Parts: sequence; C-alpha cells; structure tokens
Amino acid sequence: MAFCPECKKEMPTTAIVCPHCGYDFPASSLSKKSARTGFAYSPLADAALIVGMLAATAGAALMGYLSLIALFSGNLRFALVDGPITCLILLSSLVVFLRVQQAD
Ligand SMILES: [Zn+2]
Repeated sequence: MAFCPECKKEMPTTAIVCPHCGYDFPASSLSKKSARTGFAYSPLADAALIVGMLAATAGAALMGYLSLIALFSGNLRFALVDGPITCLILLSSLVVFLRVQQAD
C-alpha cells in the first residue's frame, strides 16, 4: 500500500488518482517508477545507446564519404542509390537514439 500525499489515506500502489480525494499524481510518481526498470533502463543499456549513436554517426559520415568517392570513380549506382539510402537509414536511427535519450 502507498499513501496519498494529499489526504494521507491508504491507496493501492497501482492507482494514478487517489480514490479518496481524487488527487492526480504527477507523471513522475509511482507508475512510472515501476515501469522504468529492467534492462532497457540499466547502465548497460545507456552504454549501448551511446555506442549505437556513435556508430550511427560514424556510419552516416562514412557512407557520405564513400558516396563521394563512388561518384568520382564512376560508380553511380552506389553514389546515388546505395550510399545515400544507407546514410539516411543511419541518420534516422540516430534520430531515434536522440529521441529515446530526450524521453528520459
Ligand atoms: Zn488522497
């Protein structure tokens, strides 16, 4: 059991609104705490996220560079299709990583 900070009465830990006084708990309280456990919020996951971001950044830069080289060496299919698509995929995964970090 948990206690309502407003009326001090007992209430279920799963409640998002106090059944006695109707106090509406802020998003950062009870339910969020229990939801934010496990591997996804462990330090290891944070490290994986950072490594993923670095890999996506480096990969996107590398693909842009390889596309330029391919363009000058006459490999147009790679320069105009494969390279840019891979680069965009890496950049979009970087956006996903950044959004995940902002959500914390
Ligand atoms: Zn209450």
